[in-house]
Amino acid sequence: MFCIKCGKEDEELFEGLCSSCFIAGNKLITIPPELTVEICAHCSSVHVGDKWMKNELSEEEFIAETIAKESIPDKEAEDVILKIDLLNQKGSVLEILINARGKILGIPVEREFPVRVKINRNDCPECSKYASGYYESVLQLRADKRVLTDEEIKIADRIIAKLLEKLFRTNRMAYISQRAELKEGVDYYFGSYKASRKISHALKEEMGGTLGESPRLMGRDKSAGKDLYRIWISLRLPSFQEGDFLAYADNLGQVTDLNGRKIMVLDLKTLGKISLSWREYSHLDVVAQKENVKTTTVTSKSPTQIQVLHPETYQPVDLDILPELASLNIGDSVEVIEIKGKLYIIPPKSPKKFDPEKK
Ligand SMILES: [Zn+2]
Ligand SMILES: [Zn+2]
Repeated sequence: MFCIKCGKEDEELFEGLCSSCFIAGNKLITIPPELTVEICAHCSSVHVGDKWMKNELSEEEFIAETIAKESIPDKEAEDVILKIDLLNQKGSVLEILINARGKILGIPVEREFPVRVKINRNDCPECSKYASGYYESVLQLRADKRVLTDEEIKIADRIIAKLLEKLFRTNRMAYISQRAELKEGVDYYFGSYKASRKISHALKEEMGGTLGESPRLMGRDKSAGKDLYRIWISLRLPSFQEGDFLAYADNLGQVTDLNGRKIMVLDLKTLGKISLSWREYSHLDVVAQKENVKTTTVTSKSPTQIQVLHPETYQPVDLDILPELASLNIGDSVEVIEIKGKLYIIPPKSPKKFDPEKK
């Protein structure tokens, strides 16, 4: 037997060839000389097969990965390693040299392949929605029976911006396509319903209030065979703010704190702390606001009574003393609130204890 190419005799043959002729004719890998990759012009999404996908790789890494996927090792090849070098770039066309090393019949082999990679930059579906101002959901921020304060709008804007930045990392639709400041509040248009829902809950958690949701049918997506809805979410902040005064059942109290779970109240008659749930919201009436608090002076004190001057009439008013008022002395300034003709003392905030451990 002899090699059909070089005629060498007394050698083991592979498909009719001696080993050196067999190796010489082996390409190690097959790779198309021209490749196209499609990358979003605005984000890092890539088009692979018939799908746009999120992509964590850099552009160079994605191209290298595409080349590796398109390189098919020969069935005789072993231990194939590719080295990819960019030789030249003209606009969106990259000229790349692939150096492939491996073994054929156990013998090291090296091959080179020039490949042209064309980069197509298009809009991924999410970026084209963003560009067209598309939105899935509108969050309406309102206040109950009053207008939003500038401070509340500022706080909401800050919470929304911070959360969007975080959500956008994994959800390209977590954007605001429009923000409209109206007489009655602020409307935020969100690309993603999921994001707007998360954000509305975060706002409620921080600012309290009541949440509502109403889907509206916008039409039908014929290609997907689905009804298209947009969701209106309303967050209604409470009629009161921290420092305001509420009547609840037969009690009166000052709101000391509020969040998404509860409303903390200082009861004006007992000076005890009470926590109210948002379920009770409809039974809470605002009876005075923090702006109505006045300052006056303690004029007399006994074990059971404390006397202050009425802040407007300057008439002495005798009130029952409670343990929370024990630190007050004659001549001290004290905050009072008048509700339905009756005066209540707001106990002084207990002075912060000095803690030598805390720097
Ligand atoms: Zn031969
Ligand atoms: Zn994109």
